[in-house]
Amino acid sequence: MKYVERLKHNSSLYIGYPPATDFELSQYAELLDYSMNSLGDPYMLSNPFSSHAHEKAIIDFFIGLYELDINKYWGYLANCSSEAILYCLWKARDYLKQHKKDIKVICNRFSHYSIDKAVEILDIDLIKISSNEYGELNYKELEENIHTDYSYIFFGTIGSTITSSIDDIVKVKSIFNAKGVNHYIHADAAFDGAFIPFTDDIRLCRDFDSINISGHKFIGAPMPSGIMIINKKYVKGEFIEYVLNSDVTIGGSRNGLNPYLLYKRIKQIGGIEGLKNRYFECLNNAKKYEKTLKENDIDVFRYKDSLALVLKNIPKEIMEKWHAPSKGDLTTLTVLPKLTEARLESFIYDIRAYKANKFKLDIKTLMPAEVEKL
Ligand SMILES: *Cc1c(COP(=O)(O)O)cnc(C)c1O
Repeated sequence: MKYVERLKHNSSLYIGYPPATDFELSQYAELLDYSMNSLGDPYMLSNPFSSHAHEKAIIDFFIGLYELDINKYWGYLANCSSEAILYCLWKARDYLKQHKKDIKVICNRFSHYSIDKAVEILDIDLIKISSNEYGELNYKELEENIHTDYSYIFFGTIGSTITSSIDDIVKVKSIFNAKGVNHYIHADAAFDGAFIPFTDDIRLCRDFDSINISGHKFIGAPMPSGIMIINKKYVKGEFIEYVLNSDVTIGGSRNGLNPYLLYKRIKQIGGIEGLKNRYFECLNNAKKYEKTLKENDIDVFRYKDSLALVLKNIPKEIMEKWHAPSKGDLTTLTVLPKLTEARLESFIYDIRAYKANKFKLDIKTLMPAEVEKL
């Protein structure tokens, strides 16, 4: 199978993971004949081959969406949310050092595994707090784990990968304040971050020091990206003379095509109004599909206004055909435009066939593309 055929085929089975696939950006293919490099701070606009103007427009758009003070916040488009998280934790650690206390990261056990990598790279202790089976943080346990001998970085999850649960950052902040400890709050909003401002849950997410939102998830783009926004007081740049820019990002040379395509994609969706309509259309479908699954005797749960349908006990064989994240006995379908009614029906059909011992797995979908030796 050629790579493009593989992409086409596997995209049709990609019903669970949060990246959206309903974009059409091939009209911008002419850019592929140019060298694009967005090295440096996107706000300095001083690089001849960068797409910094597009990158700055994206960051400004999200600063506006979250009603943050444009004079106090800054950001860049990282390669992915994991890089954005690493960046924010790095800045948080360096800032908290001034208090001369050991620093600990504290998070919900339903947090994304990228936190494990970030704390390992930065060599910071990590405490995981328990949650109920739907990912709701145990705030009492959080409180019991906070001691005045330490400074803390709270890694809050705004939409966990499996259940879409949300940590109440406002409540967490009040717990830290009541204990009188130095703290920093990061919001991991990889999927939900592009629509949470349209929901009532936004009141839980005010007051973060930094946030990450994956560009390839709810919005959807050909390549991954991580929108990173942080309070400026945590960032110090060094002016590098020969590139005429502050190289403050983790990467030196950075992908210049990505900000351009993500900018075009946000325009295509229709900016803030478009994102809002997209969310409510998906939410309507989520409610409808939840009913359909129940009518077909499939055990399903949906957390508040989330777009994630959490299914229980879906056979492993079925999940070797369809692509969706699983944890324990839970499997998640993310209701994006790619999860059409026809796809959902086809998925349900497979589960019925499995129950009747008639399900056949076409393993070809997992095969790598056929590639000649170089
Ligand atoms: C996907 C995801 C991440 C990691 O995002 P990448 O862009 O793949 O690095 C982190 N946190 C949550 C909640 C996610 O869903």
